[in-house]
Amino acid sequence: MSRFLLIGVDGVRYDTLLATATPNIDAVAASGFLTAAQIPPVNPTMSAAQWATIFTGVWADRHGIRRNWLRSRRLARHPGFLEAVQLDRPDERVYAAASWPVIGLRAGAGPLLAGPIYVPRRRVASLESWVEADEAVVADAERALAAGDVAAAFVYLGQVDMAGHWHGVGQRYGHALEDVDALVGRLLAALSPREEWTVLITTDHGHRDGRGGHGGRTPAETTVWFAGDRRVAGWDSLDSSRVKDYALAALR
Ligand SMILES: [Zn+2]
Repeated sequence: MSRFLLIGVDGVRYDTLLATATPNIDAVAASGFLTAAQIPPVNPTMSAAQWATIFTGVWADRHGIRRNWLRSRRLARHPGFLEAVQLDRPDERVYAAASWPVIGLRAGAGPLLAGPIYVPRRRVASLESWVEADEAVVADAERALAAGDVAAAFVYLGQVDMAGHWHGVGQRYGHALEDVDALVGRLLAALSPREEWTVLITTDHGHRDGRGGHGGRTPAETTVWFAGDRRVAGWDSLDSSRVKDYALAALR
């Protein structure tokens, strides 16, 4: 049976990805593809709006999430890809873990994902606490992915986006991406070679030049990217609203 892992790395500029040493993300792309896409004007370049689109396959005009702090009742009408997989394969497990509470908890616009999810407890907001939370997410995901009963999984890592917000788009931002690439390597190593996994890695938006930040329409903010280890149907025209289709195609 095919299995699918989506790794979400928040706020990674495409040009930073190309300029940074990311051997693990590169290895995924080398066996499949690396492609960029634009966030259309219907979606604000805000994390909650974009992750809601990535999960459900519909843009913000339908799911209603436009800000990180405002919930939308319409989100529940659009099942996410993990819910779709769970319906299709009731005897197996879906797994999710995220270092950003809005993904999985009733916080701000959240939860953006229905169903069980691991969200680590968090101390005060600081870049270090995000690094710790990403570490906890990966440690939990390593255990879950190795168990052999997971049909589909989502793992979210937040520290690159936070480095952009706190330190701008510079050296610290690039170093955070290097650190996250090492975490990606651990997730890939946790997948059993005896199982047929398809891996897709994506981001939700970029960051403005200089001091960073996002929410606007500059190309640095609106350009997203996808690295996949397999050319499943639709891979060459992936945008954020087609991740769910790609996932379901990979599981067939
Ligand atoms: Zn984001």
